[in-house]
Amino acid sequence: MSLQTISARIRGFICLNAHPVGCAENVRAQIDLVSAGAPGRGLNDILVVGGSTGYGLSSLLTAVFGYGARGVAVCLERPAQGEKTASAGWYNLAAAGRMATAAGKSITTINGDAYGDDIKAETVALLKQRGSKLDSIVYSLASPKRVDPRTGVSYTSTLKPLGASYRSKTINLNTDQVISVEISPATEADIEATRKVMGGEDWELWIRALVDAGVIAKQCRTVAYSYVGPELTYPIYRSGTIGKAKEHLEATARALDAELGAGFGGSAYVSVNKGLVTQASSAIPVVPLYISILYKLMKERGTHEGTAAQIKRLFQTHLGPGRTPTLDELGRIRIDDLEMDPEIQRGVLSTWDQISTENLFHLTDYAGFKQEFRSLFGFEVPGVDYAQPVETDVPL
Ligand code: NAD
Repeated sequence: MSLQTISARIRGFICLNAHPVGCAENVRAQIDLVSAGAPGRGLNDILVVGGSTGYGLSSLLTAVFGYGARGVAVCLERPAQGEKTASAGWYNLAAAGRMATAAGKSITTINGDAYGDDIKAETVALLKQRGSKLDSIVYSLASPKRVDPRTGVSYTSTLKPLGASYRSKTINLNTDQVISVEISPATEADIEATRKVMGGEDWELWIRALVDAGVIAKQCRTVAYSYVGPELTYPIYRSGTIGKAKEHLEATARALDAELGAGFGGSAYVSVNKGLVTQASSAIPVVPLYISILYKLMKERGTHEGTAAQIKRLFQTHLGPGRTPTLDELGRIRIDDLEMDPEIQRGVLSTWDQISTENLFHLTDYAGFKQEFRSLFGFEVPGVDYAQPVETDVPL
């Protein structure tokens, strides 16, 4: 037992603690959203690698509560320890598991390093023991590092431009000031390390392990998530180290598609999703400023979607049972269409040129960004009484 009142401890783009009741409320709200109007059946078994927060959590909840799948989530989250709370993803999946059981559904969590052989073996053993045949596999990892299980070499991903330094406006998240940032170009080693961490190599290892174990269903679909974004962020994202890794992920989808197609009548896709506030995206320089401008324009237009709405639409229109995905010229699903709407992007550019510390809160939805960032960790969630002590030692 560890009863505590908890308030957010934020340092820049990191929040050091999380609120179990706030996280549970977020999960409940996502379940309500993805269940509304959904068929409630159609999928049997889903595995989500990176299923505790962000796009992965929304994918898990959509498949389980929207389409009746049994869910297995793999994640790397921290349990509570003495005075320290557990991480947000821990509380999210603890709540998701409880809510699934209460609704007669099933979510099982495997917590550990998804890049390693041990966690793959543990996942395979669980799926075999339950007699699962996966019809959906979502790969949604966002990680700063990876140890290659074949060589034992550790790689650290970077967010750097290629070729030349990149100078841009960005927000100092500690002081709420618009400052100028200059980021030096990547070395060849940075490019390769980022590809090793965020490219498709590990996704392929997962699919191989699942195929070898015989836990893939006929017509199985696997999807990994990518981002393109506007030219404004190309130097730091799409044309930078992370963009190179995403190109590798997209090439991996084509290879896996051929393999799953031949073996199971299955398919592999990349879905390009909208830029949103998540733990991963908040750490990228320049992106919080872009997202704050984007949110204001999309909310004004009524086209703003969070992760749950994005993934609900992904299943409704592309990946759900009986759906045939529509692909762009590079073979990718695009649910970033509303973000990339030319009028929205013209608005972003026009605001971008005017932004300064003085008008930041007025011209952008930076207040919404901050609120949503806190909410990722269960803080500032409507309806939660933060004066009440809560149990922080929650089992997964
Ligand atoms: P996130 O930080 O919310 O989630 C990352 C997940 O990965 C968590 O479940 C975490 O536990 C898990 N994880 C990290 N390292 C792990 C490890 N070693 N072993 C097991 N689990 C591990 O991230 P997100 O923003 O939802 O990103 C998910 C994917 O979506 C990424 O590929 C990202 O590039 C992509 N994407 C994100 C955005 C965005 O704006 N957030 C937009 C488009 C695409």
